[in-house]
Amino acid sequence: MDLLEYQGKQFFASFDIPVSPGEAVTTVEEAVAAADRIGYPVVVKAQVHVGGRGKAGGVKLASNTSEAREHAGNILGLDIKGHIVKIVWIESASDIAEEYYASFTLDRAAKKHLGMLSAQGGVEIEVVADENPDAIAKIWIDPVDGLTEEVARAWVLAANLNPAANDGAVDILLKLYRAYTEGDADLCEINPLILKPTGEVHALDAKVTLDGNAEFRHEGWEVYDATQVRDEREQAAHDKGLQYVGLEGSVGVIANGAGLAMSTVDIVNQVGGKPANFLDIGGGANAEVMAGALEVINNDPAVKAIFINIFGGITKGDEVANGIVTALGRVKIDSPIVIRIDGTNAEQGRAILAEHESDMLQSKSTMLEAAKAVVELAK
Ligand code: GDP
Ligand code: MN
Repeated sequence: MDLLEYQGKQFFASFDIPVSPGEAVTTVEEAVAAADRIGYPVVVKAQVHVGGRGKAGGVKLASNTSEAREHAGNILGLDIKGHIVKIVWIESASDIAEEYYASFTLDRAAKKHLGMLSAQGGVEIEVVADENPDAIAKIWIDPVDGLTEEVARAWVLAANLNPAANDGAVDILLKLYRAYTEGDADLCEINPLILKPTGEVHALDAKVTLDGNAEFRHEGWEVYDATQVRDEREQAAHDKGLQYVGLEGSVGVIANGAGLAMSTVDIVNQVGGKPANFLDIGGGANAEVMAGALEVINNDPAVKAIFINIFGGITKGDEVANGIVTALGRVKIDSPIVIRIDGTNAEQGRAILAEHESDMLQSKSTMLEAAKAVVELAK
């Protein structure tokens, strides 16, 4: 779950990381009123789920009311890499002596958290990594050990910041690590992390990705959820509580369990087809869930054929087959369906489906046969 900058800053602030005071608004009038309240100079910042807003004209300094009005007017409605700006964040402008970069993310291969710190901030970190990789000080943190002050200090020294920034940087990095771990984030990035002429260190931007699977243990994450950008299909699936990812192909995929759904996407590709989506209906493949899944898939005009791939475990094959039949009675489906049921009570399940077989519905006993059939139908 990606946060907008101002949400990221609120998240940071809850871990005591210094950020500038500001207000999020959606109209020019509100922007002007907010700027007047905050006091000039302010920065008017586009709130979209993409980086590089500065270069795209989405970050502007305003030193008085009329400049605030002008910038808010230009930025609201601006198209930044396909994202239309609907919210602007007005914050008290900071004086900048130096711009740094700091982040934590997971290095899956190393099975450790990766911290990156660079004295070359403000620009895209990919560019620094490309042109001047030695300018990024990296540390790998074992989650069991955590980040100690001693290690943080050595890391900061290795990054060769202005010595005046060292204490402030250590303090922020320790807090940022807490935000990243205790806050259940997959990514916490500050670019730029600034040193002010007065010697304070401060987060001027915030890029935060939260682990959506942890939502259940964080009150208040609903507000972040509400501002996620999803395509129509993804929104419909999300509203039904389905695990759905939209893809580009023509074979609609429904499977129970994320692993099986991924294997289904793979096998469709393997036999020369292109999946239209990834959809995991989870363990309980009952009629209600199945009908919801079929509805989402059927509303995707790119879908030419549907592959339902179910492995009966605790949910038995005959129950799933009955669920599918009931669902098909409720939802009118435009594309032919190929079903593979295996696992517990697979025989009984197939027997139930056999009574309903037609041009629009066929059942196959293996995943490979089913994949071949559905890809043929999608042509
Ligand atoms: P991004 O372009 O999407 O990464 O947006 P940022 O929030 O990082 O802002 C881009 C650049 O605008 C920063 O690197 C700063 O140079 C500049 N900027 C942002 N806020 C301020 C501010 O309060 N004061 C000053 N002087 N410059 C700012
Ligand atoms: Mn930035």
